[in-house]
Amino acid sequence: MSRPLNVVIVGAGIGGLAAAVAISRAVKPTPKITILEAAKELSEIGAGIQVAPNMTRVLVDRLGLGDAMAQHGVVPRYVRQLRWQDSTELTRFNLNGDDGDDRCMRAFGHRYYYLHRCDLQSMLLTRATELGAEIVTSAVAVHYEHTTGGNEDGEKESVTCVDGRTFTADVVIAADGARSRLSAFVLGARVPVTPTGDSAYRATLPREAVLDDPDLASLGFENGAVVWLGPGAHVIGYLVRGGSVFNMVILVPDCPGQVNEETWKLKGDPEQLRLHFEGWDWRLRKLLSKIDVTYLWNLRDRPMLERWLAPGTEEDGGNLVLLGDAAHPMLPYAGQGAASAAEDAVALAECLAHATNKAWPLRKALTIYQHVRRPRTDSMRMAGQLNREHFHMEDGPGQQERDRKMNEASDSQKQPSQLNDPEKLQALYGYDIYAEIRRALEEAS
Ligand SMILES: Cc1cc2nc3c(=O)[nH]c(=O)nc-3n(C[C@H](O)[C@H](O)[C@H](O)COP(=O)(O)OP(=O)(O)OC[C@H]3O[C@@H](n4cnc5c(N)ncnc54)[C@H](O)[C@@H]3O)c2cc1C
Repeated sequence: MSRPLNVVIVGAGIGGLAAAVAISRAVKPTPKITILEAAKELSEIGAGIQVAPNMTRVLVDRLGLGDAMAQHGVVPRYVRQLRWQDSTELTRFNLNGDDGDDRCMRAFGHRYYYLHRCDLQSMLLTRATELGAEIVTSAVAVHYEHTTGGNEDGEKESVTCVDGRTFTADVVIAADGARSRLSAFVLGARVPVTPTGDSAYRATLPREAVLDDPDLASLGFENGAVVWLGPGAHVIGYLVRGGSVFNMVILVPDCPGQVNEETWKLKGDPEQLRLHFEGWDWRLRKLLSKIDVTYLWNLRDRPMLERWLAPGTEEDGGNLVLLGDAAHPMLPYAGQGAASAAEDAVALAECLAHATNKAWPLRKALTIYQHVRRPRTDSMRMAGQLNREHFHMEDGPGQQERDRKMNEASDSQKQPSQLNDPEKLQALYGYDIYAEIRRALEEAS
């Protein structure tokens, strides 16, 4: 193809924006990229997001966001996990630079960060637009079509919005989230949804509200994250926005009969939130008592999609491909949803770059993307499922055994540690998607 590639991305979440940046940087000549976003504007509501070293590797090395990360991110020294009833420390895992041990750097090559979702989204958006991507808001994509002949520019893919606007492209990337509409054009049906039984509350407080309170400051929020684990629930708190805002994510059982939309904007009732924590440690209850505004998300599960690419053969199939939660909806128990979307973005960008250089049919490269990403994202999902069971155990022999193992593995006991298993952690955090996808593309060449 002599002209630049024309790419339409549906969804300006973390996955869609990361894809825009990665593709602009990797594919030559620089493609024309249009991002269609349903929202009227990219909202300022969100929550903290844990950026594990595998995601930092993508943001710093592949998307060029090292300076922005240093500006907005918080580098935690440790994670402390506490018992629900009395805040006894169950385990402590050093992350960055505690006791002179910059573990994440040493073990995985990159740091662990805490970011506010809005900061992450806005740094990606700024970079994407600097690189020439165009963002169209109030653009709700409802239809996708592949035509064999294509238009006068040879573009065979098109997306139509609810207001009738149509955008043509060589490739359409559906990064439209867990409730993806475009995935139906890949699968031929809507993805089934089941409740997980859990809801996520989120809240932020000014830093001073927590750190100027000696009871709360003594838990160690200044330098790391603190997690309370208890029956059916857990709470995590850490600083974001360069340390100026305190963020909490609170996972509890759904209230009977309460079914809400999955959105960052739905407000929850702080009193109802607090009811879940009667009998929990007084310091946690003191922390929760400070919450005036909270947001609620009923978590729903969706299966891993069998296929991420529109049906058809290499010659006549459509170039519609899924990315991020649209392909592999992730629950927040392992903090890997955004990370997996960012890894997808790099993989897809390298595939498109390779296809352009080698004059491959795009579908050949898109098939490799799917082949490399499915098993990886499946294992990330599994990590989340295991964390849920591990975090939410009822008190009893299983929990006592868990606590014993956690205590043995704790860095505060100066034992060789890993938040469970060094090999698993290396596989999760040490993963280099760029190296993996380059290897797969070279093998296929
Ligand atoms: C409470 C909670 C905490 C989490 N914490 C973490 C964490 O700490 N670390 C981590 O890595 N992950 C975390 N995750 C998961 C992470 O947020 C998601 O996996 C990630 O945001 C997925 O990004 P995405 O771009 O695929 O989808 P989304 O972020 O959902 O973005 C999809 C975008 O597409 C737009 N859109 C939807 N439909 C259309 C349409 N038809 N047309 C046009 N635009 C459309 C939406 O408006 C949205 O902007 C958490 C999730 C939750 C719920």
